[in-house]
Amino acid sequence: MLLRFSDPIWQRPRTATAFQSLFPAGQCVDVVIVGGGILGLSTALHAARLGLAVQVLEAGEIGNGASGLNGGQVIPGLKYDPDWLLEHFGLERGEALVNFAASTADTVFELIRDERLAVPFVRNGWIQAAHTETALKAAANRDRQWRARGADVRLLSRTEIATMTGAQGYLGGWLDRRAGVIDPLAYTSELARVAAAAGVKIAERQNVMQISKNAGIWHVSTESGAELKTKAIVLATNAYTGGLLPGLAETIVPLHSFQIATAPLSSNLAAAILPEGQAVSDSRRILVYYRKSADGRLVFGGRGRMALPNGPADWAHLERALLRLYPALSDIAIEKRWFGRVAMTPDHLPHIHEPEKGLLAVVGCQGRGIGLMTALGERIASYLSSGDTRQLPFPISPIRPIPFHAFRQIGVAATIGWYRMLDAFER
Ligand SMILES: Cc1cc2nc3c(=O)[nH]c(=O)nc-3n(C[C@H](O)[C@H](O)[C@H](O)COP(=O)(O)OP(=O)(O)OC[C@H]3O[C@@H](n4cnc5c(N)ncnc54)[C@H](O)[C@@H]3O)c2cc1C
Repeated sequence: MLLRFSDPIWQRPRTATAFQSLFPAGQCVDVVIVGGGILGLSTALHAARLGLAVQVLEAGEIGNGASGLNGGQVIPGLKYDPDWLLEHFGLERGEALVNFAASTADTVFELIRDERLAVPFVRNGWIQAAHTETALKAAANRDRQWRARGADVRLLSRTEIATMTGAQGYLGGWLDRRAGVIDPLAYTSELARVAAAAGVKIAERQNVMQISKNAGIWHVSTESGAELKTKAIVLATNAYTGGLLPGLAETIVPLHSFQIATAPLSSNLAAAILPEGQAVSDSRRILVYYRKSADGRLVFGGRGRMALPNGPADWAHLERALLRLYPALSDIAIEKRWFGRVAMTPDHLPHIHEPEKGLLAVVGCQGRGIGLMTALGERIASYLSSGDTRQLPFPISPIRPIPFHAFRQIGVAATIGWYRMLDAFER
């Protein structure tokens, strides 16, 4: 696991337990889910509620992947706005996709409420902050499309955004009130707890090394010697995908997202910075995102280097971006630094693959995975139970490795450098 120099602030509930529950080797279960992040656990919970016998196998501990390391911003929608989705997917699938995308944050907050998950949250919206006239126009366009669909969204003036964020330099922005913030590690741990209570067997420290099929039954083997038989497998390994299914890892570009957390803000600073508790992402090409945590820190994130970090200096670019927006924080200590992997696909959409009957793989969270992967898990579970592809918001697509994948990381690093320079000119 990539946890060197990674020290997140997020907390598991005090009652969280370890999971080491396996079906007996001789029993053929309905579904084995590889990966105990939000996608794997949401799929598991809903599949168990639909009556399936489900085993989750997680290589590390629950929440070690992106699900326990992320920024905790629960944002509905996809990278694309409704008009684009209708144009590209056609009226029927496009409309279904827009409705699905609109519902993803609701799915998370309803789960927290209905399952009484012990997850600290604030649901007061997400601000997309514009630093150029072009970004303002894009925000107005987005606002028009979502408002036409009755979404609780609105544009923010320069004065309003300054008051709501306390940050310097924004021309205006867009507020999406459907969004909110959670503690992502608490959420992932709690998903595991309710999934286990629904009958799912979850085993941590079970790194799946091999999957194979014999006479219509799948066989799953782990590094520590567990052997399972199953009718279906779901690979929910996302940005941490390895070589289990040839070609799958080459369909995504895993990027590192880095975060820092300040010491708890004084009451004066807390009153001036995000006083209503919204989440923010800005409009830069290499964007930064931030929010306050339940214990009153400012949590600030953005793209990081592709190599593993060596020490605090590898987070220095975030500290500079933080001070550009909040010069008043020049004396505050940075108490935590951590990072995780995000899986990007070339078309910026999640991909669902089913290369063989009974073998599903889902990759490509694009940095909005809390809502997206929670909601997608519910749909994958319905598909597993019914076999009805209409349950799936995205079409099943063939595994198409990205050409020259090995060189892609170098290309990404060069592009990030170029974008950083363009962003600097627009300051
Ligand atoms: C730093 C950061 C900030 C982010 N911020 C946000 C945000 O604010 N809002 C938002 O919506 N999204 C955000 N994201 C994205 C979000 O975290 C992901 O989209 C989401 O968590 C993906 O969930 P998942 O279950 O698909 O994958 P993961 O949580 O990564 O789970 C995959 C799991 O598979 C396991 N695994 C891999 N291989 C094997 C194997 N062979 N055997 C067994 N287990 C295996 C891994 O250990 C891992 O736990 C962020 C991501 C990062 C990294």
